[in-house]
Amino acid sequence: MPSYVINEKCDGCKGQDKTACMYICPNDLMVLDKERMKAYNRDPSMCWECYSCVKICPQQAIDVRGYADFVPLGASVVPLRGSEDIMWTIKFRDGSIKRFKFPIRTTPEGSAKPDGGYSTAASDDIKGIALFTEPDSLHLSEVPTKK
Ligand code: SF4
Ligand code: SF4
Repeated sequence: MPSYVINEKCDGCKGQDKTACMYICPNDLMVLDKERMKAYNRDPSMCWECYSCVKICPQQAIDVRGYADFVPLGASVVPLRGSEDIMWTIKFRDGSIKRFKFPIRTTPEGSAKPDGGYSTAASDDIKGIALFTEPDSLHLSEVPTKK
């Protein structure tokens, strides 16, 4: 049930080189038609419905046809993302609406460290058995292995 762009709402991110949906899609699926200034999903079969593009679009112009078990026909699930929280508007098939608001971060914007502050020495060894932050994140001096 891939993402699709609601053309009436998309403004092509006002002609920036890379639109928000292009920036966020982990599958590199979103592209901008520069003539129409509308984005589209170039390969819906590869979309895993992660909702990243839906959440980041500043115009709320992207929707995902959710699976029937959680978004039955006639219902919709629409996020509105702020810098501190995200609000989901759920429209049920009978027309009733509920909104749920959740915080989206625990640290000030821009302050999160990608490596979590751990030593990344182990990550230099691509063939090593240690994960990115190990062994530090295990609080051990080395990764336990069968000797
Ligand atoms: S993020 Fe939204 S407004 Fe921007 S190009 Fe994509 S669909 Fe259009
Ligand atoms: S739902 Fe996820 S995988 Fe699908 S187009 Fe959007 S960002 Fe890409």
